Amino acid sequence: MIVERIWTGNNYRNYNYLIVCPETGEALAVDPLDHEKCLARAKERGYQITQIVNTHEHGDHTGGNAAVIAATGAKLLAHAGAQRIPGIDRGLHAKDVIRVGKTVELEALDTPGHTMAHVCLLSHTDTPALFSGDTLFNAGAGNCHNGGHPAELYETFAAQLSKLLDHTQIYPGHDYIENNLRFTLDREPDNRKASELLPQVKGHDPAASLVSTLGLEKQMNTFFRLHSPAVIARLRERFPELDERPDAKTVFLKLRELRNSW
Ligand SMILES: [Zn+2]
Ligand SMILES: [Zn+2]
Repeated sequence: MIVERIWTGNNYRNYNYLIVCPETGEALAVDPLDHEKCLARAKERGYQITQIVNTHEHGDHTGGNAAVIAATGAKLLAHAGAQRIPGIDRGLHAKDVIRVGKTVELEALDTPGHTMAHVCLLSHTDTPALFSGDTLFNAGAGNCHNGGHPAELYETFAAQLSKLLDHTQIYPGHDYIENNLRFTLDREPDNRKASELLPQVKGHDPAASLVSTLGLEKQMNTFFRLHSPAVIARLRERFPELDERPDAKTVFLKLRELRNSW
């Protein structure tokens, strides 16, 4: 499997992806908002885009569909419950497998929270890769302001994402790492991994930045650090009514709430 990460350079800081079968050159485009860059990259490398997956219905993920379909005839795949995406050819359910060319298999994960009809894609490869849309970001989690619910986002993290293998590579829908690491350090000032990484990503070129892994996220992403005594102690300064040993869901929801106004 070849992954082409395309940095849009737009104000929303979107990443688009091409997932390619190295044998046939067939490609699946994930949220190809910057259709010009996606089509140009495919052309340059000799890939044929035959499918598009939208992780969810927000315009910064679906806005390139029409142009990519017009140029390539690609089929459009999205969550079976995504009512605001016109022209879906194949509705996706949990565990559905999407084939790209001869060699690539991607599994759809049903991952509500950021919106209620959101899919992530997990590759069935020796080194697994997760295309996480706006559910999981580097060092952060998606917001729930536009059609989502924090309790479902917690469930998605707890029941699905945190159970993936530590060497799973993470390909999120946006580059928010710098700001997110600052939030981690605000919540857990002695987080070593976050302090180490922050200077490396300050003003970095997102086109060339590191691809994280789930194992790294567990070290630097507050939303995976729900049992950290430092995170809990800081939260209790802010929310004195919290118990000494709050459950993971309560910690997650409080962190999500703080992140909204941070
Ligand atoms: Zn979104
Ligand atoms: Zn987005």
